[in-house]
Amino acid sequence: MSSYSIAVLPGDGIGPEITDAAEIVLKRLVASNQGLALDLTRYEAGASHYRATGVTLPPDVVTACVAADAVLLAAIGLPDVRNPNGTEVQPEMMVGLRRALDVQSAPRPVKLYPGVRSPLADVGAGIDMVIVRENLEGLFASFGGGAVVGDQVATDTIVITRAGTEKACRYAFELARRRNGRPRDGRRRVTCVDKANVFRCFAFFREVFFDVAKQYPDIEADALYVDAVSLYLVQEPDAYDVLVMENQFGDILSDLGAGLVGGLGMAPSAEIGDHHALFQPSHGSAPTIAGQNIANPIAMILSAAMMLDWLGERHDDPLALGASKQIEAAVAGVLARGDCRTRDLGGAASTTDFAEAVAAAL
Ligand code: ATP
Ligand code: MG
Repeated sequence: MSSYSIAVLPGDGIGPEITDAAEIVLKRLVASNQGLALDLTRYEAGASHYRATGVTLPPDVVTACVAADAVLLAAIGLPDVRNPNGTEVQPEMMVGLRRALDVQSAPRPVKLYPGVRSPLADVGAGIDMVIVRENLEGLFASFGGGAVVGDQVATDTIVITRAGTEKACRYAFELARRRNGRPRDGRRRVTCVDKANVFRCFAFFREVFFDVAKQYPDIEADALYVDAVSLYLVQEPDAYDVLVMENQFGDILSDLGAGLVGGLGMAPSAEIGDHHALFQPSHGSAPTIAGQNIANPIAMILSAAMMLDWLGERHDDPLALGASKQIEAAVAGVLARGDCRTRDLGGAASTTDFAEAVAAAL
């Protein structure tokens, strides 16, 4: 019996709608997989919760997330809900949760599914890569510590540690081993993305990357500057397999990646540590389309699939691994059929319609 407790944080904006959609899929999955049990418990946190209670992330929710087998989070933050100092409440909550769960590596798959249009005219052999974002340091280490000096100069500090960089790089190489290589020719490749020619901290990141690469002689390792990669990802997206980079670069390039494969609604993500993991779509709470049942739930549903994959690997559980593959295949099948798509993909289906189509395909 594979039984997992999942802390579910629906959050703000479209969060509750896409959470409902993911639950429709997960419940059907459990119904059709004898022996798989998911105990999904919802918790309130985020901007709406802050508006109601003055607290963004209650301590008992953090405790529940740490105690759960995995955390599934939809979307946090609303632009008009701010701290007394004027900043949005979302970064504070996410940084707090990440630090509590100690989740160092953030894989963000960028995959073009048949039936989804890419804005690129020529995608070559296809797009199927994973951006691994270092998740706890880099420029985000400065969070809460930046300074404005004399109302004239503002500073933030970037921090790269050997330990943190090693974890993210090792994760990237291990991931490459589990994948099928880049679309172009099946070659396994991990690319370090940095700005090593200008900044000491990125030269160090690259140095640590190549130290880790020595332990993976079966995988091609190379390094490119972030500006060049922004060009190449558009020109030849089929040349990439796994890319690993500092936090802020990962934040930016994963949005670019989402843009190549149908938009933010297609972009799942995970945040993975030695003991805990959190799964959430790459997108935010999209308040302008909230409450209308029109959001694309795919990023959320595929994040749930990544969660089952991680649980399956961690607990050596073929049932969970298989369930993850079933979800992805069902999503791909519905997209390829072409008769059920949300508005962002050019269709007219509702959030619920799409979730039910995926459940039916299961
Ligand atoms: P964050 O600061 O949390 O990254 P953001 O300001 O980048 O959030 P999002 O909430 O991610 O913004 O949304 C940006 C736009 O992308 C939305 O206005 C919406 O049009 C679109 N979008 C995002 N997610 C979805 C989705 N699941 N389905 C459809 N459209 C989406
Ligand atoms: Mg964003």
